Amino acid sequence: MKFSVLTLFPKQVKDFLGESIIGRAEEKGILSIEAIDIRDFSGNRYGKVDDTLFGGGTGMLMQCEPVYQAFLSVCGEADTEGGIPSKKPHCIFMSPKGAVLTQEKARELTKYDHLVILCGHYEGIDQRVLDEIVDEDLSIGDYVLTGGEVAACVVIDCVSRMIPGVLPNEEAYEEESHMQGYLEAPQYTKPNIWHEKAVPEVMISGNHAKIKEWKRIHGLYDTWKRRPDMLEKLDISSEDWKKILEIEKDR
Ligand code: SAH
Repeated sequence: MKFSVLTLFPKQVKDFLGESIIGRAEEKGILSIEAIDIRDFSGNRYGKVDDTLFGGGTGMLMQCEPVYQAFLSVCGEADTEGGIPSKKPHCIFMSPKGAVLTQEKARELTKYDHLVILCGHYEGIDQRVLDEIVDEDLSIGDYVLTGGEVAACVVIDCVSRMIPGVLPNEEAYEEESHMQGYLEAPQYTKPNIWHEKAVPEVMISGNHAKIKEWKRIHGLYDTWKRRPDMLEKLDISSEDWKKILEIEKDR
């Protein structure tokens, strides 16, 4: 899968994604991540890509043409007029006005071979170029960042770990928080006893069916305690509720 990030700060994006699991996946050729510097398309020798806002207001807005040219540069073959080719890659604009990223959305994005992710900075980007090239806006939460770079890295990280071969053990991610609509159960590693706290007995029992059930019920319990809004979307049986309430009693 290929990601093309259009940004004024390509180093931020490459530095973050060049490390660890995502960096290794890129080395293996499973992912390809390019960060295109919008400033290279400024069309002037100062590399100026922004200007003051029409209608007043503080700050600077990124202009249409450099963003448009940066987008065309990652589209591959342009059609005869040199405009946007009919088979253009899917383009996401990182924006606090977008739909908030969810696991489900990230999973949906894995179907694309090539994603273009546009990052705004300063006050954002002139609406006219957004209307021409962007397919959807995505936000990473209800707060405002200084730029879309961190948000783009979040999207790429989250989508990438569902691409086969990126994680060493693909089954691993299916059990994680949000993947099944509820949160993951607590996890433990060695030593068996730490600060006089023992690992739950079932975890060292070797009984895989019991362990699986423990994880499921404790995952549901944590979801109930931390994110009751998520639980509303699940159909919890009265038997499961009994087990969840048992945990509450034991605490
Ligand atoms: N004036 C804009 C905010 C600009 S913030 C507004 O009020 O909507 C500058 C850039 O940071 C944005 O263009 C966007 O690319 C990025 N950004 C800020 N908050 C974000 C968020 N929650 N999710 C994704 N991108 C965000």
